[in-house]
Amino acid sequence: MKYIFQIRHLGCANCSAKIEHALRRSKQFQHIEINFMLGEVQVRADRAIDVVKTAAFIEKIANQYEDGIKVTYDVDNSEEHRHESCTKGECAAGLDAEGTHTDSKEGQGLYRRIKYTAFILGIILLLGGIVFKQDKMLILAYLLTGYDIVWMAFKNCIKGRMLDENFLMTIATVAAFAIGEYPEAVAVMIFYKIGEYMQDKAVDYSTREIEKAMDIRPDFARVLRDGERIVNPKDVNIGELVEVRPGEKIPLDGVVAEGSSALDTSMLTGESLPLTVGKGDEVLSGSINHEGVIRIHVTKLFKHSTASKILELIQSASSKKSKSENFITKFARWYTPLVVGLALLVAVVPSVITGNWQEWVYTSIIFLVISCPCALVVSVPLGFFGGIGAASKVGVLVKGSNYLEELNQIDTVVLDKTGTITKGRFGITHIMTKDASENEVLEYAALLESFSNHPIAKSIVKAYGREMNQSIKVTHFKEISGEGLAAKVNGEDVLAGNEKLMMRHSITYEKNDKLGSHVYVAKENKYLGCIIVADEIKEDSKEAVKSLKVRGIKRVVMLTGDKKEIADQIGKEAGVDEVYAELLPQDKVMKLEEELKQGRAVFVGDGINDAPVLARADIGIAMGGAGSDAAIEAADIVLMTDRLSSIGDVMDIAKKTRRIVTENIILALGVKVIVLVLGLLGIANMWLAVFADVGVSFLAVLNSIRVLGHNKGHMLEMVKKR
Ligand code: ADP
Ligand code: MG
Repeated sequence: MKYIFQIRHLGCANCSAKIEHALRRSKQFQHIEINFMLGEVQVRADRAIDVVKTAAFIEKIANQYEDGIKVTYDVDNSEEHRHESCTKGECAAGLDAEGTHTDSKEGQGLYRRIKYTAFILGIILLLGGIVFKQDKMLILAYLLTGYDIVWMAFKNCIKGRMLDENFLMTIATVAAFAIGEYPEAVAVMIFYKIGEYMQDKAVDYSTREIEKAMDIRPDFARVLRDGERIVNPKDVNIGELVEVRPGEKIPLDGVVAEGSSALDTSMLTGESLPLTVGKGDEVLSGSINHEGVIRIHVTKLFKHSTASKILELIQSASSKKSKSENFITKFARWYTPLVVGLALLVAVVPSVITGNWQEWVYTSIIFLVISCPCALVVSVPLGFFGGIGAASKVGVLVKGSNYLEELNQIDTVVLDKTGTITKGRFGITHIMTKDASENEVLEYAALLESFSNHPIAKSIVKAYGREMNQSIKVTHFKEISGEGLAAKVNGEDVLAGNEKLMMRHSITYEKNDKLGSHVYVAKENKYLGCIIVADEIKEDSKEAVKSLKVRGIKRVVMLTGDKKEIADQIGKEAGVDEVYAELLPQDKVMKLEEELKQGRAVFVGDGINDAPVLARADIGIAMGGAGSDAAIEAADIVLMTDRLSSIGDVMDIAKKTRRIVTENIILALGVKVIVLVLGLLGIANMWLAVFADVGVSFLAVLNSIRVLGHNKGHMLEMVKKR
């Protein structure tokens, strides 16, 4: 069972990592994960847990690391809380610290004003102290600007957590006073706080930008229920009528009952062209109504509507952490003790040898100032979060940072045919008959196919185009994957499917050489006729396959349950390297396993019959629009556009994400190492150390959101079109 708790007032990502580590160590949960970006704690348990007690437990642990953290459980699973919980700028150890702990809003405002005033006064006193060479002024300036840090350090110290940032800053600045570097001590504190503040704002800004890119949550529904009422989309029932005005989001999935308009579905599908809809057309929640007023007949509850489903996927995405994120979290745990240890060594050993305490204590202070791994801990997950956001902007849902990272290692792409390379919209080209009318053959097929989700089934039902005769009873329906369907129609055995199905029932059927997929129909083991359906390749499939090659994919393989002739033809049209036909679902898994032995492979399918293959691949990619729910569930990446070319897009985003994350790691670690070395050589000063600490974090965070800019061109196009 999975539970999502809301966690608020969580200051820095590093604290979040520490809390997560402590919670895991408590061994209370099967699995626990803190999502700093969304302000959520995800708990997996093998049994039902008491949410109130659990929330209190998590809160207790969290508060050992940071004061004022609130953990709550929302029965409705977090709908409203997410937005609030992300204004983290308020709860960090920077200028705003503790302000949020005061309960009343006014108290908070007043407290904050006093803090700001004290801070400004501190800066003035620092300048005064330097100009007039007044140590008392400097000490006062220090107290005014750094009292909260010192206080938190004291509290944490009592709790036995010496390696907390506040504590390290306090030691560093107090040591600076001890060696007589008064102005530096104050200045370091001030710059540290300004840096922290800017870093928090940057995190806040980035998170919001990313969330904006993914924001498809409809806030309200204008339901026509004794007049017009604005209600929470959750409270609208199936069958009700909702009105959507221009500029508003479609709140629930449904069918247009009145009016017509153009919809912006880019949030869902990445498709930048507006979609024109009129009476009778299906509309999806999360799209934005551009032009006219439309009324929609609701066909799905909010929780089953597209917007909710997508949000659910995005929410669970960041819980699957990438290797880099896990590495950084581990790294952070030993980085601080290591640097602090070095600082101690540097302060004592050379000083005893040379007798020059002043110089070496100063150097050790530099070490202390840069001993927080914040830049890494914040910017690496943020980079991945940005990558996931950028992907969702082009209509690709990535269900975890790990998949985005692994996408860079892929060298083989295995594609399903029907619905993936081809449109999956079959047209009937011929109906052959034997001792039956065309209509009979079509009707028997349609009766069975109306129970199936297969693209062939949908097409035959559509071609039949009539309501099923209600007096006909279809029972014992069975779908045989990769072969077809069997059922009893008014008590008589009817089959509809391919050659394999006919052969298994030892039915003598008439072969024909018409090109297309053959759906043979038999009744009471007697062949009635054959429906020949043909599918078309998607417009962009060929280009997409080519672009995969350009992006360094070595092999593109097509698997299908369809006949060899058709498979070869489609394979050639699409330009794939290899084609394997007439495979049953389990054969597809075997073929994929062969590919997995040779390289790292993604499998792309629509999930009709191939959910097991999706699950088996290194990365499973499903077609979201045409695909089944099972596929979306089993897949790691979902293409809402149903276009193969989206794979190239998401590969580009994966690459860019990796580059940005690498840049951040190099920037953060590089600058720190350089400053450490310069410090040892006696060249670096404390100012530089502060920059290496907070300045670098700030830059890294800003760098992270560059990944969002990925699709700028496409966004511009959209704006121009309006
Ligand atoms: P693909 O690999 O092309 O996606 P599937 O594995 O879904 O194909 O199906 C393989 C073959 O099984 C189809 O080409 C068709 O001949 C037959 N088949 C599967 N489901 C049905 C159905 N509902 N009706 C008729 N034939 C079916
Ligand atoms: Mg299929």
